[in-house]
Amino acid sequence: MLSTKPKFLIRTIGCQMNSFDSSIYLKVLTDYGFEETSEISESSIVLINTCAVRDKSVQKAASCIGEARHLKQEKPNLIICVLGCASELLKDSSHKKKVDYFCGALNSSQADSSFYKLLDDKGFKYKPVSSHSLQLTSKTSHFIPIIFGCNSFCTYCIVPYVRGREKSRPFEDIKREIIQAVSEGATEIILLGQNVNCYGKDFLEKTDFPSLLDKIAIIPGIKRLDFLTSHPREFNKNLLQVMKNHKNIVHRFHFPIQNGDNDILKRMRRGYTVEEYLEKISWIRDIFPIASITTDIIVGFPGESEEAFQNTLELINTAKFDSIYGAVYSPRPLTKASEYADRVPLNVGKERLNKVLEIQKNITRSNILRFQNTNSSVYVIENSNPDSITGKTWEDRLISFKPLDELPKIGQVVEVNVEYIENFKLFGKQIKNGNQ
Ligand code: SF4
Repeated sequence: MLSTKPKFLIRTIGCQMNSFDSSIYLKVLTDYGFEETSEISESSIVLINTCAVRDKSVQKAASCIGEARHLKQEKPNLIICVLGCASELLKDSSHKKKVDYFCGALNSSQADSSFYKLLDDKGFKYKPVSSHSLQLTSKTSHFIPIIFGCNSFCTYCIVPYVRGREKSRPFEDIKREIIQAVSEGATEIILLGQNVNCYGKDFLEKTDFPSLLDKIAIIPGIKRLDFLTSHPREFNKNLLQVMKNHKNIVHRFHFPIQNGDNDILKRMRRGYTVEEYLEKISWIRDIFPIASITTDIIVGFPGESEEAFQNTLELINTAKFDSIYGAVYSPRPLTKASEYADRVPLNVGKERLNKVLEIQKNITRSNILRFQNTNSSVYVIENSNPDSITGKTWEDRLISFKPLDELPKIGQVVEVNVEYIENFKLFGKQIKNGNQ
C-alpha cells in the first residue's frame, strides 16, 4: 500500500557535524509524521543543510535552493528550509524569497524551538514515534557530538563565526545517549567535535579528551570507537596511551596540518610548527606503526611563495599520509585572512593542488602495501553477498573478505587475514570471530 504520509528531503553538504544536525531534523520530522524521500518532486518539505567552509559548498547550497524554489512554482505549499553554517550568508541573497525558514548550525543536540513552531503553524501535528535517538550514520553506527563550536579562529576559517564558541557536553549526557544508541543496536560510536582535543576546557572542573575517551571506551556494547577531528596543537601522549589501553578504539587519526611551511602556519594561526607536528606523528607511529594518518592541506594561502609551497611538498614526502583532503584557499567572509592582500592567483593554487594530489597518490599506493599478509580486526558493514563480506579495518581501510561458515552480522567485529591488495582495496579471508 502506498504511504499517505507527507514526505521530506534533506540535502546535507559538509562535515559530520552537519550530518549530525541533519539527523536531529530527521527525528523531529519523523515525530511530526513525515517520511523521508530521496525525490525532491514528492517532498512537502525540503531541508538544505549548508556548509560555509568553502565557496564551492556555498554555491552548491545555492544551486539546491534554486532547485527547490523552481519546484515551489508548481507546488506553492512546499516548505523550504535552509539550515547550517551558510544560512546567514544565503539569507541576504535573492534566495530569501520563497525560503520559509533559515536556521544556523545547531550547537546542542536539540532542534531550535522555532522549527517546531514552523511545523505547528503549517498545521502538522507532533506525535513522538518512539524514544529512538536516530543520530545514525547507519543502523549500527551513531554519531555522538561531545563538543560544539570552536575557539581557535584559524585565520582562514569561518567555523567559529557560524558555529560559535566551544561548548563541551557533560559526560552524563554523552553516556546516556551512547547507552540508548547501544540499546537500539549500535555497536560503533563516532565522537564528533570541530576539535575533540579541546573537550572540557570550558568546564569549571577541568577535564580533557583522553579522560573522556577512557570513560566512554568501557561503556558496554561499544565494539568500535572512533573520533573526529584531532587538532595537532592539543594532541598529546595521554590520548595515545588511552587508545593503547582499549582494544575497541580505532587506530585512525585525522590530523590536519593545513600547510607545510612554518611562516604560513603562523599566518594561519595554527599554533604549531612543522617540526612539532612531525614529532607528534612519530609518537603515533611508535605506538601504532600501521595506523592510518590523514590530513587536510590548503594550498595558495595568501603569501605562499614557491619556496613555501616546496616546504609543503617536502612535508608530504616526510609524513607519508594515507590520504590528503586538499583544497585551494578561498577567502571566507568575516575571516582575518580574507583581508590579506598578497593573494596567490587561482591558477597557481590549482596547479599546486594538482602537484600535491599527484605526489600523494603514489604515497597512498605504496602505504597500502604495508597491510599485505597482516591480520586485522574488521568491523562488518555489508553482508548481503555471502561470498564477499565488506568491512573496515581498525586503520579504516575497506576490505572484502571470504567469511567462515557462519555469516558475520553487520556491526560485528571479526579477525581477517589480508591476502592481496587491488585498486587501493584490501581482500582477504576471515580467520576467526572477533574477541570483543
Ligand atoms: S580549529 Fe581552526 S580550522 Fe578547525 S574549526 Fe576551529 S577555526 Fe576552523
